[in-house]
Amino acid sequence: MRNGEVSYWWRALGGFPARRPSLPGPAEADVCIVGGGYTGLWTAYYLAGLRPGLRIVVLEAAFAGYGASGRNGGWVTAELPGSRARNARAAGGASGVRDLESALRATVDEVGRVCAAESIDCDFVKGGRLSVATTPSQLARLRGSLAAHRSWGDGADVYQYLTRDETLARVNVAGALGGLYAPASARVQPAALAAGLARAAERRGVEIYEATPVSEIRPAAYGEGPGAVACTKFGDVRARSVLRCTEGYTATLPGLRRALLPMSSHMVVTEPLSAGAWAEIGWNGCETLGDEAHAYMYAQRTADGRIALGGRGVPYRFGSAVDHLGQTDASTVAALTRVLRRMFPAAASAAIQHAWCGVLGVPRDWCATVTYSAAAGLGWAGGYTGHGVAAANLAGRTLAGLVTGETSPLTELPWVGHHSRTWEPEPARWTGVHGLYGLYRLADRLESDPAAGSRVRLGEALGRAGDMISGIPH
Ligand SMILES: Cc1cc2nc3c(=O)[nH]c(=O)nc-3n(C[C@H](O)[C@H](O)[C@H](O)COP(=O)(O)OP(=O)(O)OC[C@H]3O[C@@H](n4cnc5c(N)ncnc54)[C@H](O)[C@@H]3O)c2cc1C
Repeated sequence: MRNGEVSYWWRALGGFPARRPSLPGPAEADVCIVGGGYTGLWTAYYLAGLRPGLRIVVLEAAFAGYGASGRNGGWVTAELPGSRARNARAAGGASGVRDLESALRATVDEVGRVCAAESIDCDFVKGGRLSVATTPSQLARLRGSLAAHRSWGDGADVYQYLTRDETLARVNVAGALGGLYAPASARVQPAALAAGLARAAERRGVEIYEATPVSEIRPAAYGEGPGAVACTKFGDVRARSVLRCTEGYTATLPGLRRALLPMSSHMVVTEPLSAGAWAEIGWNGCETLGDEAHAYMYAQRTADGRIALGGRGVPYRFGSAVDHLGQTDASTVAALTRVLRRMFPAAASAAIQHAWCGVLGVPRDWCATVTYSAAAGLGWAGGYTGHGVAAANLAGRTLAGLVTGETSPLTELPWVGHHSRTWEPEPARWTGVHGLYGLYRLADRLESDPAAGSRVRLGEALGRAGDMISGIPH
C-alpha cells in the first residue's frame, strides 16, 4: 500500500505534475493570489475572464493542486459550509441563507459547465448525493435533518427521503435503513480538476509560479504605492490586490496561527473491484456517498472502478501543524478500512492500494468567509469546513467580483465579509478537537452496538453534546 505521495488522485494522473517555474524575481502585478488550490485558481480564472488585461500572478508554495484541492473526496456538493442559523444571524437573515444555498446548488452546474467548456477531463458526473443511515439513531438523525430542511423551505427537488429499498437500489450499503438524497452533487477526480483548472487559467493569461512559498502578506509601505505585498525568498510581489487563498495552510503565515484550524481528513482507495463486486454493490449513478455517523465517512465510486473512502481519523495535529506529503497513520488507515469493509462486504477482499490525508480550514464558528477590502487591497476566502469543492468556485467568482468592484447578487451573499473569532491557544485547541472527536467516536460506537441497550440513548446524547459544545452544524 502506498501512503502519502500527496494523493492517489495525483498518482492516477502519472505522479506529481511537471513543475512550473518559481517566481523569477520581484514583480508588480494587478492581482497577486497566494495559493494555487481551487480557491486561488477559480478566482484567477474568473478575474481573467472579467478583466482580460489584468496582470494576475498566482504564487504557490508547492504545485497547483498540492493541497486539499488535489486530495479531497471529489464531492462537488452544494452543502452549506457553515450553520444556517449562524449565517442567518450574521447577515441577510433566512433569505440570505437560502440565497447562498441556492447559489451553491447552481455552482455544481457551473463547475460542470466550465469543465465542459474548457475540456477539463475530471470524470464529472452529477449523480446526486446519498446519505445513508445504518443504525436506528442515524435514521432518526436523518429524519431530523429532513424536517429541518423542509422547515427552511427545501422541497423534494432539493432533498428526498429514500426508503431502505430505494436506498439499496442506488447503492447496496450493508445495513442501510434509509437514505437522504440530494440531486445537487457531482463526483470528480479532484487532482484532474485542479490540473485542468490551472491550465484553463493560464490560457486566459494568468501566471502561475510554483515552489514559491509566500512568507508574509502585508500592506504596502509608504512609498511602495497602493495595495499590498506578498513576500517571497525570490523577491516581493506588489499588487493592487493581494488575495490569500491558503485555506488549511493559513496557520503557517505570520499572525494567522489561530485564524483557521487545519483539520485533517484522511482517505483510502481500493484496487479496482471486479465486475461481480460492482454488480452486487450497484452504485451505477456514481452518487457521492456519505453516512449519518457523528464522525462521518464520505466516498465515491471512481471512474477507474475503485471505492475511494474518507473520514476524520486523527483530526488535528498539535500547534496547527500540517502533514508531510499526505502521510497518514496506520490506525486511521485501519479504521477507514474497517468502515469500507463493513459497508461493502462485496469489496471485503479488495486490497487498499493507497492512503493519504490533507488539511481543510475550519473557522472557530464553522462558517466560511469571502472578504475583500478595496482600501487595503487585501482579501481572502476559505474556511469551508470540508465542503470546499463547490464552495471554492462560488467564492472565487465572488472574490473576482469584489476585486473588480462589480456588485452582483453574489457579492451580497451572507458569507461576504463574515468574521469569525480566532481559535483558542494551545493546548486548548488540541484538547478541544481531540476531545470532541473522542466523544463522537464513543457516540457512534454506542449507537451501532447491538448489545448497547439503553446506552444507545447515551450515545445519542453524547453526539448532541458534541454538536452543542463545538457548534458544528449537523
Ligand atoms: C482529504 C480531504 C477530503 C475532502 N473532501 C472534500 C469533498 O469531497 N468535498 C468538498 O467539498 N470538500 C472536501 N474537502 C475540502 C476541500 O478539498 C477544500 O475545502 C478545498 O479544496 C479548499 O481549496 P483551497 O484552494 O481553498 O485550499 P487548498 O486546496 O488547500 O489550496 C491551498 C494552496 O495554498 C498553498 N499554500 C499554502 N501556504 C502557502 C504560502 N505561504 N505561499 C504560497 N502558497 C501556499 C498550498 O500549497 C495549497 O496548494 C476535503 C479536504 C480533504 C483534505
